[in-house]
Amino acid sequence: MGKLDGRVVIVTGAARGQGEQEVRLFAAEGAEVVVADVLDDQGAALAKELGALYVHLDVSEESDWRSAVAAARDAHGRIDGLVNNAGILRFNSLVDTPLDEFMQVVRVNQVGCFLGIRTVAPEMGDGGTIVNTASYTGVTGMAAVGAYAATKHAILGLTRVAALELAARKIRVNAMCPGAIDTAMSNPAQLDPAADAEEASRGLDRFYRKLVPLGRIGKPEEVARLALFLSCDDSSYITGQPFVIDGGWLAGVSIV
Ligand code: NAD
Repeated sequence: MGKLDGRVVIVTGAARGQGEQEVRLFAAEGAEVVVADVLDDQGAALAKELGALYVHLDVSEESDWRSAVAAARDAHGRIDGLVNNAGILRFNSLVDTPLDEFMQVVRVNQVGCFLGIRTVAPEMGDGGTIVNTASYTGVTGMAAVGAYAATKHAILGLTRVAALELAARKIRVNAMCPGAIDTAMSNPAQLDPAADAEEASRGLDRFYRKLVPLGRIGKPEEVARLALFLSCDDSSYITGQPFVIDGGWLAGVSIV
């Protein structure tokens, strides 16, 4: 028995990184996953490997959401789960951030999450689950990522309101707040064929040893296991909550 047997789950930004590990784990647990991304070649190849459906879904586009939901319904007849995982990061101080850059981050991270909830929840059966990917920067500040942190704080607000509004249909809505995770977002060497991504990972471990009590950067597989917990019956009495997964980074600072 898998933890998601027979459930149909859409995961956005699923072509790589945390989303990829989420669809791999969910499929292994018996779900029919819908791999959604703007990286069509990568996403379609992954979906093919998993025997799953791929949909082109720019999460900031209403019409893409409508098409993705229609494709999922056509293929499987139902939708039980959504993981709003797609996200982008831009580095800038607030005073140097152009409005266009700020709005680009808002459109993908915040509007994307809103449109996902608004489009998918009405199509879900009672007892569905929504998992929104916020961030460590959704619960505390971090210099140089102001637009990103603002959207991740907003995702927690959306999560709480959606949990309240959808509880009558037993749809549970929770959020994940990952710290530093070893994907292309934190480790761009993964996207550079000329770079040694494993050596870059070891460098990130050395860097985060100073900041993170558990002494290393997190793995996307670890976040996928939290997404699974929040998408299956193991979390049946939990809704409206942020879950920090950060190796203890947010616990405080050590003076020894
Ligand atoms: P990633 O960059 O490897 O993956 C992001 C995915 O989102 C990619 O597949 C990308 O194509 C997709 N995407 C980007 N814009 C999109 C759009 N408009 N529509 C649909 N898909 C789009 O990074 P990741 O770490 O796997 O990121 C997953 C989520 O985790 C993001 O929401 C990110 O903000 C969050 N997060 C990441 C970290 C980290 O350190 N890596 C920490 C906290 C939170």
